[in-house]
Amino acid sequence: MAMKRIGCFALLLCLLLWSGNTIRGQEIVQQVPAAVTSDPPPDPAYPATMAWPDIPSHGSKMYSVLYIASGSGPHPTVLMLHGFPGNEKNLDLAYSIRRAGWNVLVPFNRGAWGSSGTFSFTHALEDAQASIDFLHDSENAKKFRIDEARIVLVGHSMGGFAAAYAAAHEPLVFAAALISAGNLGPASARQRASDPQFWERWNDNASRLVGTTAQQLVQEVDSDPAKWNYMNCVPQLKDRPVLVLEADDRNTSDNQELANRLRQAGDTHVTEIHMHTDHPFSDRRIAMQAAIVNWLDAITPPRSGSHAKESTSRTKVVLLGTGTPIPDPDRSGPATAIIVDDRAYLIDFGPGVVRRAEAAALTRQIPAVEPGNLRVAFVTHLHSDHTAGYSDLILGGWTSGRKVPLEVYGPSGLQSMTEHILQAYRVDIETRTNPDGPMRDAGRFPDAWKVNAHDIKAGVIYKDEKVTVTAFPTKHAMESYGYRFETPDRTIVISGDTNPVEETIKACNGCDVLIHEAQPLELLAKMPGSIQSFVAKYHTTTEQLAELATKAKPKLLVIYHTISFPPGIAPPRLLPPKGSADALYASPEMLQKEIGSRYSGEFVIGKDLDVY
Ligand SMILES: [Zn+2]
Ligand SMILES: [Zn+2]
Repeated sequence: MAMKRIGCFALLLCLLLWSGNTIRGQEIVQQVPAAVTSDPPPDPAYPATMAWPDIPSHGSKMYSVLYIASGSGPHPTVLMLHGFPGNEKNLDLAYSIRRAGWNVLVPFNRGAWGSSGTFSFTHALEDAQASIDFLHDSENAKKFRIDEARIVLVGHSMGGFAAAYAAAHEPLVFAAALISAGNLGPASARQRASDPQFWERWNDNASRLVGTTAQQLVQEVDSDPAKWNYMNCVPQLKDRPVLVLEADDRNTSDNQELANRLRQAGDTHVTEIHMHTDHPFSDRRIAMQAAIVNWLDAITPPRSGSHAKESTSRTKVVLLGTGTPIPDPDRSGPATAIIVDDRAYLIDFGPGVVRRAEAAALTRQIPAVEPGNLRVAFVTHLHSDHTAGYSDLILGGWTSGRKVPLEVYGPSGLQSMTEHILQAYRVDIETRTNPDGPMRDAGRFPDAWKVNAHDIKAGVIYKDEKVTVTAFPTKHAMESYGYRFETPDRTIVISGDTNPVEETIKACNGCDVLIHEAQPLELLAKMPGSIQSFVAKYHTTTEQLAELATKAKPKLLVIYHTISFPPGIAPPRLLPPKGSADALYASPEMLQKEIGSRYSGEFVIGKDLDVY
């Protein structure tokens, strides 16, 4: 984006470093997503609805409510596990999650709330597994519009323990959110030692349940300390997204220890949020729902429904980075891979490209984007947000096993940039390739650091047996191109950074996928005039994109490269007077609204690692 913004981004980075630890241990003000406060547009063909299936569990039947999201689905689905029966059921949270496009199943444990059978903690764990089995049943999935591959557990208190345990024992569960999760064994022992009202409380609670007493429940957790300590679930949980949501209550220390242990075990997907409230989050209901809906939105795996053709198509689009110059930790610099069979073609190499490529290879099972397999790349223009990953692509790809020189195509200046990067890394290349350097080892490719850089003009610029690539001129702050990829089964067009241009419409003209930048009107209105006029000249607003896409008629429009400062990272200079820390955050709901109200075709707000 604008060159003049580089300075402010450098300042922003300094501020971030200076402000230190703002995430852990402090209550972060959550951007409240639209799903928490407003109804989505109704879908007359597939309206939101409710079912109340009986879920079989070990000879008894559990009553349940199943909130089904609007739309044809299949929808990702949350299994919501309630706390100790008789208390909080979190149904307000279930509704918010449903408005965000998820189904929510809330089962009621055996022996509680009218469900038949008897209650015990062991039964509660079995009931959680029985509910997962219910969601994975293909007939139920069809009937209730459930996406079996995208099941997330959300549990509060005792249900938090059950969510951790069930997720640890069921690899098909994609992620788990633990809301003030009670660590049943250690918590029981601790409370007996310190709380004079312990037995009174437990007798009162247990009296509502069928087939158990306070003594039996205590005995149950005492009899098998390893089973009833969720720290033992860490090895199985550490590779999946986990949200640890803490309150100021008896569970805080266990929750913090769990988050620490997950991190120590190498978990990079753990999110820890603390809220100053009581155990049922009585005065943080909206903040709690916002935190969970935001987390679900961030971890949602790519759809297995209508958009993702990965199972049938030879050609896939993998979004490696959907960001801008803003150092958003969830959005890497612009980079997109088009995969045809076992080949990958990269467009742009923003910062983070090599690591996102490895992440896509691992988590989306796409070996073609292993860094060592990236051999052909195209760049839309030479702005740093699109090219700051170039040295990593050249050198990281080489050390990761690329066997041949990288082939790169882009506007004039690319060759010069390439020469300078290689010159800058002369010492690295020399020490790796000298006679005792590691790239001289057997099986390594000592010449594959080289790059064949091609300065291009508009027209067909690349062709092999899998793909024909045509460059078309776009309108940005420097020489810039969009690209049209024709493969044996799909046509894909990508805009790069540009003002709306007729060439993009012509290049797409009913194409399968159009990947286009868009800048939100609501956010632009709050930005300084210099940025507004830069965007007006060299970028595309949501309104302009809706108009362009209506003419270009892609089967799917993927929106990326949107200016947005996630809550807390906007530099103070840019924040509007009296604006809150998240005033410059472009939520998916904002984009959805701005595009959806003006464009009737199918579109998605792209996220890093989405596959289409
Ligand atoms: Zn850009
Ligand atoms: Zn740019």
